[in-house]
Amino acid sequence: MAELLVTGGAGFIGANFVHYWRQHHPDDGITVLDALTYAGNRANLDGLDGVELVVGDICDTALVEGLLADRGIGTIVHFAAESHVDRSITGPDAFVTTNVIGTHSLLKAARKAWLDTGTGRPHRFHHVSTDEVYGSLGPDDAAFSETTPYAPNSPYSASKAGSDHLVRAYHHTYGLETTTSNCSNNYGPYQFPEKLIPLFLLNALHGRSLPIYGDGMNVRDWLHVEDHCNGIERILLQGRIGETYNVGGGQELPNLEVIAEICRTVDRAFAADPTLAARYPDAPAARGEPTDTLKTFVTDRKGHDRRYAIDETKIRGELGYEPRRTFAEGFAETLAWYLANENWWRSLLR
Ligand code: NAD
Repeated sequence: MAELLVTGGAGFIGANFVHYWRQHHPDDGITVLDALTYAGNRANLDGLDGVELVVGDICDTALVEGLLADRGIGTIVHFAAESHVDRSITGPDAFVTTNVIGTHSLLKAARKAWLDTGTGRPHRFHHVSTDEVYGSLGPDDAAFSETTPYAPNSPYSASKAGSDHLVRAYHHTYGLETTTSNCSNNYGPYQFPEKLIPLFLLNALHGRSLPIYGDGMNVRDWLHVEDHCNGIERILLQGRIGETYNVGGGQELPNLEVIAEICRTVDRAFAADPTLAARYPDAPAARGEPTDTLKTFVTDRKGHDRRYAIDETKIRGELGYEPRRTFAEGFAETLAWYLANENWWRSLLR
């Protein structure tokens, strides 16, 4: 039985991880530390027994030290971050504060609790990061591996790169037992509707435009959040200390293809279930029209990276990781979840 501290566990990926861990490791204790920013939501943890939410800031080192000491916590899984690239362009300060200073605050607390007090307690600090730290690829460049040099291009990715370096340094300098994962674009249940998949899904249901940056040919790898949680679980249980693992979904797609799949799946869902037309009368699909009539091209994001791709050789070879869903399968499941959990997303749109 282990005691975990999950930072950012009321956000999208963190909450999915808490649900996943509860299901697969029911005897473990879980404390969630989350500041409940706009992206955090208590309701993401509804229905879970034995999970305590502590509302607090990862920058509060004394708070984290107290949690680690009082609860016998031996594992930190660190998701808390400012995570939206567009927000980092208009307001980078919060990204430096939470992602860099906040991560350093956690590392200091972990060092104190696990190394300086001499408890000798087995421990792990797992840091969740992004493939965006590697910068942008050309069409024929090799996918990002764990040895690709860092070249972050946005304030978001630069702040995550800074946090990755601090985690590395705490391992090399102090011997803190760390692992890091750099993953691609996640999608699935509980994703705040500012990100592409839930935004486009809900816009399609409400007959609002689907705004496509630039020429729509930016390429991303798409990772269903449950596959991501499985990757993190493997790293926590079998990953080598001090190592970094890239986690992807094996689904490298240009945005236009992603949007085409969203439109096709929504059209099919309305054709299969006549009650959807009554629930969402403004959707083109409610009138039998194709959802892709909502597509609109808008001015590109500043400094928009062209292509990200993940080389998963290391995690597949060492840890037996394999994503279980294609994007088409994962998006169909995601649409079904949003249709079945309307109260959850309606409360965010108020
Ligand atoms: P999110 O924005 O949905 O959730 C972030 C959570 O962190 C929220 O619950 C928020 O309240 C909390 N938080 C923010 N600042 C905090 C602070 N100072 N103290 C305590 N809690 C705070 O993010 P997400 O999409 O779930 O991403 C989780 C992690 O995964 C992040 O580190 C992100 O960089 C990384 N990541 C995400 C993606 C993706 O596609 N979403 C891809 C790669 C990496």
